[in-house]
Amino acid sequence: MAATTFYDLDHIRANFPILCQTVHGHPLAFLDNAASTQKPADVTMATKTFYETGYANVHRGAYWLSEQATIQYEGARERVRAFINARRVQEIVFTRGATESINLVAATWGQTCLEAGDEVVLTWLEHHSNIVPWQMLASAKGLILKVVPVDDDGRFLWEAYQSLLSSRTRFVSVTHVSNVLGTLLPVKDIVAAAHAVGAKVLVDGCQAVPHMAVDVCDIDCDFYVFSGHKLYGPTGIGVLYGREVLLQEMPPYQGGGDMIASVTFEKPSWAGLPYKFEAGTPAVAQAIGLAAAINYIESIGLRAIAVHEADLLNYATQRLAEIRGVRLLGPAQIKTSVLSFTLNGVHPHDIATIVDRYGVAIRAGHHCAQPLMQRFGIPASARASFGLYNTRAEADALADALESVRGIFGP
Ligand code: PMP
Repeated sequence: MAATTFYDLDHIRANFPILCQTVHGHPLAFLDNAASTQKPADVTMATKTFYETGYANVHRGAYWLSEQATIQYEGARERVRAFINARRVQEIVFTRGATESINLVAATWGQTCLEAGDEVVLTWLEHHSNIVPWQMLASAKGLILKVVPVDDDGRFLWEAYQSLLSSRTRFVSVTHVSNVLGTLLPVKDIVAAAHAVGAKVLVDGCQAVPHMAVDVCDIDCDFYVFSGHKLYGPTGIGVLYGREVLLQEMPPYQGGGDMIASVTFEKPSWAGLPYKFEAGTPAVAQAIGLAAAINYIESIGLRAIAVHEADLLNYATQRLAEIRGVRLLGPAQIKTSVLSFTLNGVHPHDIATIVDRYGVAIRAGHHCAQPLMQRFGIPASARASFGLYNTRAEADALADALESVRGIFGP
């Protein structure tokens, strides 16, 4: 059944050759987009063309090829800036991914601006990437971590958040969208409330940027992070947006080439923004691929993508809800393209292994969010997550495969 009339799925899918294959004799239904997305031909072509015709190291060469590579790399930075509506390119730092971006903030801003007894607020919805760096810093510096609870449907509890905020709160680090439940957090309000008590805020946008337009000025956050590979771009590239005045104050993260203004054995001095945070040869081809991914997404339009994915999510939710023994996790409203579930009497790993025999790729496990699993009293869940190229037929394939799983394990 067609999902929407105006959304040209056939045309879109033709851009993802990897999707046109069979797995165990069935058409591949790739439903693990929250872990990583497939890459459109535009992205693979952009990196291939760069390697074949424009490759050189950046910022260093006086020769034409290096200058061209630098123009492309810095063009990618401008592309990212416009994508999230940052004020200046100086506020866009390329990293290896969201994990590195968060570690960078913890190790620089956190290391220099936080003191023993200061409080850092997280939520139960965080990925380990937005928990462990703060735990490491907390144990090194004697910080206190406070965690905003969620209700039985995985909803962010606003009153509980407000009650955790005080003049001792120095930092709030929250996900924009939960990778396990798809819950969308009210980040703009979260930021405003944190700012009111003088705290800075980092928003983990990994699961938001592929599904909705993000405007860091409107959210007014101090830091915003995401990974390229979840945004139809290459692996090995991520983004840290930081408010310029904060990035200026922060010490460098790593030392090496490209991040210095000058070096003597007595004293190095740092390069300007954003290079102070980009030690060593950067991931040039990956940045160019990320820019191509952003161009691609915007050529379809984030609104159109959101409408398509909402239709898919509703459809898949209905199909799964009809299956006896399926428990859907997380709220039915205000969420993006993630569907986490359990099936009575069947371990999620068995679910994922069996549906794979029907060509359906889903995730099973704790999704790097063990505290949230503990909150729901389960060790793991199965998770289907949708991307711009998924179809209702793929949601049907998942539901049919789950019926088969139920058949194997009994009524
Ligand atoms: N935060 C969230 C919400 C995520 O979903 C992920 C990836 N699953 C990460 C952070 C970490 O991203 P990466 O592994 O690309 O650094």
